[in-house]
Amino acid sequence: MTRIADLLRAGRTLSFEFFPPKTDEAALALRTTIAELDELHPSFVSVTYGAGGSTRERTRDVVIAIEREVGLAAMAHLTCVAHTRSQLDSLLDEYHAAGVENILALAGDPVLDDDGRPIDGEFEYSLELVELIAEREQFSIGVAAHPEGHPRSVDLATDRRHLATKLEIADFAITQFFFEAEPYLRMVDELAALGCTKPVLPGIMPVTNVGQVTRFAQLAGAAFPAHLADRFESLADDPAGVRALGVELATELCQRLLDEGVPGLHFYTLNRSTATRDIARELDLTQ
Ligand code: FAD
Repeated sequence: MTRIADLLRAGRTLSFEFFPPKTDEAALALRTTIAELDELHPSFVSVTYGAGGSTRERTRDVVIAIEREVGLAAMAHLTCVAHTRSQLDSLLDEYHAAGVENILALAGDPVLDDDGRPIDGEFEYSLELVELIAEREQFSIGVAAHPEGHPRSVDLATDRRHLATKLEIADFAITQFFFEAEPYLRMVDELAALGCTKPVLPGIMPVTNVGQVTRFAQLAGAAFPAHLADRFESLADDPAGVRALGVELATELCQRLLDEGVPGLHFYTLNRSTATRDIARELDLTQ
């Protein structure tokens, strides 16, 4: 059973996100990370896709290698902006032929050509990709959720309605990372008020490097709360202290989410295993 919809029906999931490595050395490092995380018995892992298809082959190859050689259920991220239907169909054909059963259907960010003009494609919103994949009846489909609202949303209520609409067809959502439980819990309540009770997996990004997380958070529209930033600020010259605090705060966040009955935990690993393994140990998720 490797469809994520089935895994979620069976119980709480634990999952890890990777990005496709660029070099042989990075590929070897990812292999090591996956082997180290295997001790946590992940329900599935996922592999990101570069905007506009910039990692098309690399993402495909890593996803298929994880399924076939490592024997883990792998979910391929796929974006539709700046793509044609036939490009997406041929990639979906390859995944299906290789036994991959899970796709995270995303819009992706606008892709610009060398002159700064948006590259045209046949798709604008993730819902169109969700519909295209659902027609095939071959994959369990996930979508992205943004607890604090997508940065391009006109307002939060409209964003929630678009999310609820895509979840009418998709099986589950995974959230952008967030640092405090409230925006996630509010989002789940707001979806329920719209009649949507599909599982929404919280995305957890342990802070191991303050500059990097602040940059990511700005891009992703996730607030990095001032009171947490202040605690990291006082450790500016102490990388080990930053890591330890990052693990402590992510552990507290996960514990709160587990107490609230989340359907699973999805970790943004940045292709490293240590922080995630430390958190899993603290939470006693290791058996
Ligand atoms: P959509 O669902 O299309 O939403 C985008 C915006 O449009 C939102 O503001 C929404 O409210 C609005 N909207 C939706 N439908 C409509 C409609 N019918 N009419 C008007 N407005 C509408 N990016 C990558 O490039 N590669 C990845 O691998 C990747 N992985 C991700 C994984 C997760 C878990 C998450 C949360 C994000 C990921 N992203 C990735 C980022 C994502 O592609 C961007 O956030 C992108 O800008 C929007 O994608 P979406 O699927 O949320 O878009």
